[in-house]
Amino acid sequence: MGVVLVTGGSRGIGRATSLLLAQSGYKVVVNYQRNKQAADEVVNIIREAGGEVLAIKADISDELQVMAMFAEIDSAFGPVTALVNNAGILFQQSTIEELTAERINRVLATNVTGSFLCCREAVKRMALRHGGKGGAIVNVSSAAARLGAPGEYVDYAASKGAVDTLTTGLSVEVAAQGIRVNGVRPGFIYTDMHADGGEAGRVDRVKELLPMKRGGQPEEVAQAIAWLLSDKASYVTGSFLDLAGGK
Ligand code: NAP
Repeated sequence: MGVVLVTGGSRGIGRATSLLLAQSGYKVVVNYQRNKQAADEVVNIIREAGGEVLAIKADISDELQVMAMFAEIDSAFGPVTALVNNAGILFQQSTIEELTAERINRVLATNVTGSFLCCREAVKRMALRHGGKGGAIVNVSSAAARLGAPGEYVDYAASKGAVDTLTTGLSVEVAAQGIRVNGVRPGFIYTDMHADGGEAGRVDRVKELLPMKRGGQPEEVAQAIAWLLSDKASYVTGSFLDLAGGK
């Protein structure tokens, strides 16, 4: 089935994606940054179900750590055939007056630079011109890229705008190399991320404002990611699936 790296695969949307892809038969690499316990839990669930899985601690904003992670995957499972660029961060809700250069740069370093670096290492291994067998990449963006997250985290929204542009540009750049690159734009999904923004109950606060009148589950996003990675989406590249309850 192939080898998939899910960045931030230990919690939230990444966790649901790792579990689903393992069920589909992928060898799964669960990347995480800090929370080993959460990563180990995902590993244990997959192993107990008979799947092949590996957890790797690496900060995706750090070039050397990204390169070391891909090298470790090469040795353990062989080169990646699929990549889910899922790891992402945001900080306390605020208006622009409160934003510092340090915060903006931290958001961009993880959400944008991290996604670029993982795409680079994946393309080196997947591209036909390098002797690879092709592959598929899904970048996890956000509805915020379209909506802008005013009064909450415009820095985060802008980082996801950059991720969408990465998806568009890279999809064309590597289309003839057997690599498909697509994006998902979730919104209002029940995960711990909203607590990082200072409002753990955010999804329940806004759900009545959504056309579907409910928040989304990580598993619903995972299904879209799995489809975009799969051969069922073999003619799909440079496309985006919005998973935001109609918003
Ligand atoms: P989450 O529950 O906060 O989980 C974040 C994951 O990313 C964790 O596994 C975390 O690992 C990992 N991570 C964070 N920084 C990292 C780094 N520098 N290097 C490697 N791993 C790192 O987040 P989520 O809500 O599932 O979000 C996943 C993706 O969906 C993000 O890109 C987010 O922007 C996007 N998204 C989410 C929503 C939503 O409503 N939840 C909406 C739109 C888009 P540790 O636990 O080890 O720190």
